[in-house]
Formats: sequence, C-alpha cells, structure tokens
Amino acid sequence: MVNHMRLECDAVSENEVFARNAVALFALPLEPDLAELSDIKTAVSEAVTNCIVHAYRGQGGTIGIECAIEKRTLHIKISDKGRGIPDVEAALRPFFTTLPGEERSGMGFTIMQTFMSGFKVESALDKGTVVSMSKAIGAGKKENA
Ligand code: ATP
Ligand code: MG
Repeated sequence: MVNHMRLECDAVSENEVFARNAVALFALPLEPDLAELSDIKTAVSEAVTNCIVHAYRGQGGTIGIECAIEKRTLHIKISDKGRGIPDVEAALRPFFTTLPGEERSGMGFTIMQTFMSGFKVESALDKGTVVSMSKAIGAGKKENA
C-alpha cells in the first residue's frame, strides 16, 4: 500500500517550520530515528526556503508539498510556480548561489543531496521548479535489513 499526502501553503518564511514538521509528522509511522528525522526536516527546510527566496523572490506565491510512503521509503516533492532555474547543473554545484552576500552560502542543494538518498531537480524558466527527494527509513536497523 502507498500512503499519500498533499499540502499547499503560502511562500512565507513562517511556513518553513510548518512544512518541515508536517513532513516529519507524516513520516512518523515509519518510526524514523532522531538522525533520520533531522535529515528529513533539514532537507525540507532547504527546499522550502529556496521557493520563498529564489522562486518567488520574497514576493509570495504557493508552495506544493507532496509526500508518499511506499514500504519503508519516504518520497517528498516540493514544488513552486516561480521563476525557474536557468541552469540546473550549475545550481547544484556546492557554493553556487545567485544571491551572494545575502546570507546565502549556495549549500542548500548540496545539503539536500547529502541528507536524502534520492534527489532530482526539474525546472522550467518562468514555470517553476520541482525538487523530488526520497529516503529509506530504518535502513540501518537489523530488523529491516
Ligand atoms: P543556501 O541554500 O546555502 O542559503 P542558495 O539558496 O543560494 O544558498 P542552493 O539552495 O544550493 O543555494 O540553490 C542554488 C541556486 O539555485 C540558488 O542560488 C538559486 O539561484 C537557484 N534555486 C534554487 N532553488 C530554486 C527555486 N525553487 N527556484 C528558482 N531558483 C532556485
Ligand atoms: Mg538554498
């Protein structure tokens, strides 16, 4: 059985905390340990922050948050209908940022890739961006090996 959820929220900074905790709560039936929960929350925060500051440039818009649990894997899609990314390959490089000097270090995508096991970015200029991530929960536990 696959369990799905889908949410939409405004692209405002207070929804970063909402989004990361909503996804963490949805993942709870998989009994993630604290490290796994922290990885999931950090990855969601980074993706949602990117929607707020890059996709909509702080002007507001809508963020889509979709999750699915399939066996022991959590799938997450964070989407926006903002400006899009002209060169995804460049954007994925560590320290690449289009907002230097504004507290951005260009590490968001690198963090998402490091903390999650599956990672993909699809983007179209002036149409928006979809970040898909997945993580197998409890992969290190003996009973799930
Ligand atoms: P940090 O995440 O460390 O604060 P950053 O957001 O610039 O800095 P990344 O999250 O790795 O770094 O993103 C790299 C670049 O990709 C951004 O600077 C921006 O140009 C582009 N980008 C990322 N997400 C989006 C998005 N949803 N819409 C449009 N552009 C994006
Ligand atoms: Mg970022």
